[in-house]
This record gives sequence, C-alpha cells and structure tokens, in this order.
Amino acid sequence: MKKITLGILLLWSLSFRAGAQVKIGYEISFKEPQAHYAEVEMNLSGLTKEYIDVKMPVWAPGSYLVREFAKNVEGFTASAGNKALKLEKTKKNTWRIYTGTAKSVHINYRVYGNEVSVRTTFIDNTHAFLSSTGVFMYPDKMLSLPSTVKIIPYTGWSKVSTGLPAIAGQAFTYTAKNFDILYDSPLEVGNQDIFEFMAAGVKHEMAMYGGGNYDKERLKVDLPKVIEAATAVYGENPNTSYTFIVHNFSGGGGGLEHLNSTVLGASKDQYADEDGYKGFLSLVAHEYHHLWNVKRMRPVALGPFDYENENYTTDLWIAEGFTAYYENKFMLRAGFWTPDNFVGVLVGSVSSVVNTPGAKVQSAAEASFDAWIKQYRPNENSNNTTVSYYSKGEVVGLLLDLEIAHATKGAHSLDDVMKAVYLQCKTTGKGYTDAEFKATAEKISGINLTDFWTKYVNGTAPVEYAKYFGFAGIKVQDQNEGKAIPYLGVSTKKAEGLFSIGSVSRNSAAWTDGLNAGDIVVSIDGAVPTGAIERMPEIVNRKVGDVVKVKIKRDGVEKDINVTLKSSPNVSLVPSLDPNVTDAQRAVLKKWMGI
Ligand SMILES: [Zn+2]
Repeated sequence: MKKITLGILLLWSLSFRAGAQVKIGYEISFKEPQAHYAEVEMNLSGLTKEYIDVKMPVWAPGSYLVREFAKNVEGFTASAGNKALKLEKTKKNTWRIYTGTAKSVHINYRVYGNEVSVRTTFIDNTHAFLSSTGVFMYPDKMLSLPSTVKIIPYTGWSKVSTGLPAIAGQAFTYTAKNFDILYDSPLEVGNQDIFEFMAAGVKHEMAMYGGGNYDKERLKVDLPKVIEAATAVYGENPNTSYTFIVHNFSGGGGGLEHLNSTVLGASKDQYADEDGYKGFLSLVAHEYHHLWNVKRMRPVALGPFDYENENYTTDLWIAEGFTAYYENKFMLRAGFWTPDNFVGVLVGSVSSVVNTPGAKVQSAAEASFDAWIKQYRPNENSNNTTVSYYSKGEVVGLLLDLEIAHATKGAHSLDDVMKAVYLQCKTTGKGYTDAEFKATAEKISGINLTDFWTKYVNGTAPVEYAKYFGFAGIKVQDQNEGKAIPYLGVSTKKAEGLFSIGSVSRNSAAWTDGLNAGDIVVSIDGAVPTGAIERMPEIVNRKVGDVVKVKIKRDGVEKDINVTLKSSPNVSLVPSLDPNVTDAQRAVLKKWMGI
C-alpha cells in the first residue's frame, strides 16, 4: 500500500515538473460575427521543447459522434515575438509549431460557427454560442493544466454566461482548472435575458437567448421543484452555482449536460402552451439529472476523456436511458404529472420499444457501444437493426426499479442504487464498471440479477411488461391482442407534394414483397396518397391476406408491385389499476413513485 502511494506521488511530481510552468491563455473576439466567425488567440508560455503540438478535439462529450471540429478552423498562425514560426499540420486536428528557442508562443486562428445545436458553435450578429470543444485547442499532453479565457464581446454585446468561475476584477475573464473543465463549460456571449433563483441551496442562473413567450416568475417557482426532486434522490447537490443556457428558436430542441451548466434548445412559443411548458420542464429534469448521472457517477470509460478518438462504453443505457427514465419520476414528484400521466408515459415507452424491430436485434449494451456509428448515424434501415439506448435504457430502468421494489417489499428502489453508485464514484474518484453497477443493484435488492442482465442489458428478450407492472398492481393489456390488423409496414416521407416510403419494417408485407425506402408511391389500387401511406383506406379497410397493387416510381421508372397484406405485430398497451390490488403491490407502487 505504501509502495503504491509512493509511486503515485512520484508520477504526480514528475508530471507537475514537466508541465506546471506552461501557462495557457485564450482571448476570444469577434471581427465578423455576421459571417459566423470567432477570432481565437492562444498564448502559451513556459515552453521548453523545440516544438509543440496543438490539437482540436474531434468530439464533444455527451454527444457520441466524431464531429471533426478542426474542419471549422482556418488561418492558423504562430509567432514568437514578432517572428512567424514554422508550422506543420501533422494530423487532421494537429498543428506542430517549431518553437526553436522561444519560451512563449502566440497562436491565432479563426473558427467558423454556423450550426445551431446544443453541441456546436453558432455565431451571428446577435450572439455567439461557444461550444468549447470546437473553439479551444489544447497543447498535446497538457490536458491536466489550467487555463484562462478572456472574452471580448462584439460591439453592443454586454453579457457572458458560463459555468466557468470568473476572475474577480477582470471583465469577462474566466479560469478552468483543467481541460476537462474547460471543455465541459460552454459560453454564451451577447445580450441574453438573465434571471436568477435559488434551489436546493444552489444559486441558479438562467440565460435565455432568442426571446419567447416564457414567464420568468413562473419558471422561478417551477424549476426549483424539479431541481429539488432530483436532489432528493442523491441526498446532496454538489454545485454551488449552476447555469442554464437556453436557445429559443422557432423550432429548437435538445439539450447537452455539463458539470455545473447545461445548454437547452427550446421553441420560442412553447412556454405558453401547457404541453410545451411541461415539455420544457421535462428537458430541464433530464439535463439537470446528468449533473449526477454521467457527469459525476459515470461509466468508467467516460472521463478523463480522449478528445481525439471514440470513447467506448457499454453503459449509455444507464447514463442516458436512466436519465430519460428519471425525467418521468421527477415530473411526477415535482407535481407536474399525475400518477396516471406517469404510468401512461411509461407504458407508451414500453410500447415503442416492443414495436421496434431493431429491439430484437440489438441489445442495450450493444446500442451503447455502437452509439458512434449507429445511434448518431442513422439510415433508413436503423429501425430494423438498432434500438435507442435512450428508449431501451428507459425501459430497463423501469423494469429494474420495479424488480428492486418488488424484491424488497417496497423497502428500496432504483433510487437507492443511483445514490449508492454516485457516492461510490465520489469516494473512489473513478467511474463505475457495468459489473460494479450490477453488484450494487444486487446488494440493495438482495437478489441475483444475472438473469435480468442477460435478458435486458446484454440480450434482446421480449419485455415482460405485464409481470413488472403487475408488481405495482397495474394491469397492462394489449388492445391489439387477437386482432388481425392489416398493414404494409412502411413510414411515409413527403417532399414536393409527393409521398414516398421513408423506411420498411423488417418482415412486414412491404419488406417481403419488395417495396423500398425511397420509392415514390404513385397510387395504391388506383388511389393517390394524400397523407400517411399506412393509413390509406386502401390498406386499413382491407383484410390480412388481401393483395393490393402498389404503383411506385423508382429511379424515375414506374412499376406495379403486388403486396399481400400481413397482420401488424404492433402492440397497443393500455394500463389500468388492478381492482384487486394487494397491500404488497401498494407498497411497491408507493416506493416506485415516491409520492
Ligand atoms: Zn441525456
């Protein structure tokens, strides 16, 4: 034990000596925001070698896709004093600067940002959203070093919102303890509408860009309810301050989690409508929960990050799926949903997984591992070959929660597992392995979960929804059971007034008889489509086994294809409270909902 400690100390002091004297500072300004550019100045001092490599990350943590942020960089130059330094591009994202004897280097480059999303940089003449992994380059092998960031807002802009701590007395200047913190801290620059509120003992700031019909006073009352419901699961809220950056567009959406901030996309007019407003609160519940689940209790592969390559984990079904599941619990516990809403939404999520052909092909663990090439790169066949780790993970969370509450007669739930794994990660300073997560769930439930993991995590077993909801005294019935509902098995795409096939479901009538994604449907039995192809009377009013003549246009050529209608395999699940509910079931129900 002593030896190990000594080894760590030695390593630490070596790396300290090698890198501590290098100082890293950035200055971001805007000469041509209307053309979507930011000017980046990067200053390095304390250099000792004859060259240094600087690198742009290829991905943004939380969004598992290689996005090649270096593609938006231009005009890279480096100088020492007034002398330009020799440069060489050695990799897609790496610039080698030959420093010679210079100890300090001054680097300039421009970043183009014109992609509206929560994980990409967007700059125009009204604001700049700086998604750090696409803006700040890092000196190779110095990810553990601190840096400073100074923002010079464009003329007329007066505010910066970020989770980075500000340096007192210096306008718009911030520090980052290391690059994991810098890359986890986006910055919003402009004239955003900022308001503050307290919740769970933490100061929260909401920065709204783009306007919209939100009611600040209502949000100040409702957001703390969601935040406190989330904090209650973990028993503590580890931040002292938290920043919401909200982008309101005509049709915005999505969110990305960070350690002490989040970026949310919303529609400007969604707040006044009750469903839209609750949709926004659900998004807040999801992204806020990530400050624990994935940012602090994280799969072992997710941090410290490799910013140049894919970071593989089989546990996104916990990191994302359980976060999706808890959205529902927090909305219920915060009082925005009734128990009926809660059960209805979860039954809907189960239906959607059961009705996905890809859920019979890909497991939750495989969906997680292949996020980089499948979830974020869907094609017309994705529904047949993949299942989202969000939706499958949400269902696994539901089943595991009910399994634990049932096994412990209502004494424990998944909440206890989440809290225990969070505290374990906090103590060890490391992420969890799949085996550790399972072991904690087994310890709390008192049962062996190998069969559960084999079926639902690593396998593609059918979801036993009647059994699990039954633990809580809820009956779930399939309204389609025993019915022969004719179907083609296609989704519809509409473009320029024409209706074409978006995708074909595995083993459906369309699949067997050769309709293809991309086929324009000219007519079915002579009738021209005016909406969803699957809902045409020529399909829904027929019988299973009937043959319909589908006239399609493929590659400019018209063709008739006879399709024999099959029976839809899709379930339509409806929940109801069992009238003979037992006390044992009531105890499970109570623990599960937590109200
Ligand atoms: Zn998420």
